[in-house]
Formats: sequence, C-alpha cells, structure tokens
Amino acid sequence: MSEAYLLWVRPLIFFITIILCLTAEILRPEFKHDYKSRVKTNILLLLFSILILKIAFPYGPYALTESTNSESSFLFLKSLPWYLDAIITILIFDLIIYWQHRLFHTIPWLWRFHEVHHSDKSMDLSMAVRFHPGEIVLSGLLKTVILMVLAPRLEVFLVYESILSSMAIFNHSNIHIPPRVERWLRYLIVTPQMHTPHHSPIKELTNSNYGNFLSIWDRLFKSFTNESNNSFGLDQVSKNQADSILHQLALPFQPRLKE
Ligand SMILES: [Zn+2]
Repeated sequence: MSEAYLLWVRPLIFFITIILCLTAEILRPEFKHDYKSRVKTNILLLLFSILILKIAFPYGPYALTESTNSESSFLFLKSLPWYLDAIITILIFDLIIYWQHRLFHTIPWLWRFHEVHHSDKSMDLSMAVRFHPGEIVLSGLLKTVILMVLAPRLEVFLVYESILSSMAIFNHSNIHIPPRVERWLRYLIVTPQMHTPHHSPIKELTNSNYGNFLSIWDRLFKSFTNESNNSFGLDQVSKNQADSILHQLALPFQPRLKE
C-alpha cells in the first residue's frame, strides 16, 4: 500500500463518522438544542485550527512518523510486531490525551484556552472541532514529542489518529443510546452520555470524565462520574459571546477579575 493512499484513510473514516453521527443526531437526538448560531463558529474555529497547524507544523506528523529511526527515538515501537506497536501506541497516546485534557482544566493559563471548547451553550458533534488555535498548537507540540519518543509505524499512528477524531465526534454527538446498551458501553469507551457532564456549567462535573477513547483512565485516576447532564456552557460566557468568533479568539487574553 502506498503512503499517499494511506493518508486518505483518516479523512475518510472521519467523514464516515460525521455522516453516521449526524444521521443519528437527526433521527434519535438525546435532547433538543440549537444548531444555527453555534455551528458556524465551531466550523470557523476548525478552519483556523487547520490553518494554524499548517503554519506551525509544515513538516506534518505523518512525515515525522516516517522519518523516525532507532537513534532518534526512545522506544522505537516500529521494531516490535505490529500488534504490540498498535496496542502500546494507542494506550500511551490515549493516556497522555487524558492527562493533557486534565491539565488544561487545572492549570489556569491552559484553562483560559480550553474555555473556548467549554463555552458552547449546547452540545453536538460540531463541538468536537471547537478549540482555540492556541490549544491546537500546544496539542501539536505535545504530539510531536510523543511521536519522536514512541516512533510508531505510520499505519499504527493513522489508526490511532482515526480513533482519536472519530471518538471525539462520537462522544460530543447529541445521540440517544438505549440506557441498557450505554451502561455496558461505558465500561470500555467514552460514550456521549458519559461526556455530557464534562460540559456542564457545574464545576465539579466539568472537572470529571476527561477521557476521549477508553473510559478506564477516569476510573483509574478518580475523575469518573455517573451523573447525567443536559445543560451546557460556562456561567461567565454569555450565549452571544460563545457564538462570536472574535470573542472566542480573544477569550484567553481578556483580563479577569478572578480566576
Ligand atoms: Zn474539557
């Protein structure tokens, strides 16, 4: 399989996930919500993120993955059988994403960037791409370091990237899952019902359920909640402010009375 062909895998899986989740959102939503004003802001933030990634990391993560070798990397997972490479890469990346997310909540200057993701007053799959470009650059830097340390196969990294983006779309989707199925599902993965408390304006709920793919990390590191939630956003950000792209881009740099 040529590399050029492989690079289509992630966008294709991403696109299929969006179509499936969007269909489920239309046919079986979990709660009523407003699409109109928010989605434009979320898509604009996605476009900003794509642009900033191209500027900040012109080399790109895939070329970086291809260029790693046994001298430049610490673990060099490429030398292991492919299934061990896959299991270790997915587990380590998912664990680091958990802690990255948790630190974005607990370190005040990081939270200022992450507030943009949390200021959305409703929840649907478009929220999965709503991030301040500053958070995107910081995530890109961390990803670069992990890739250099692990040096996984390109195919394995693409599988991980596909899981990351598909799970982000899925667990931000406003879709109803029968409670009996969902209860079992959340033993293994982060479901939309498990992720909704994380977007509550109530601080104790916001600071819980940080996981993206596997639900084990929240259980292991005592941030798991079984609470349910259908109110979203942050008290300190109004609906108009949340829907304004300019306000959201400026949000991390605005003076605050108190943190
Ligand atoms: Zn968060």
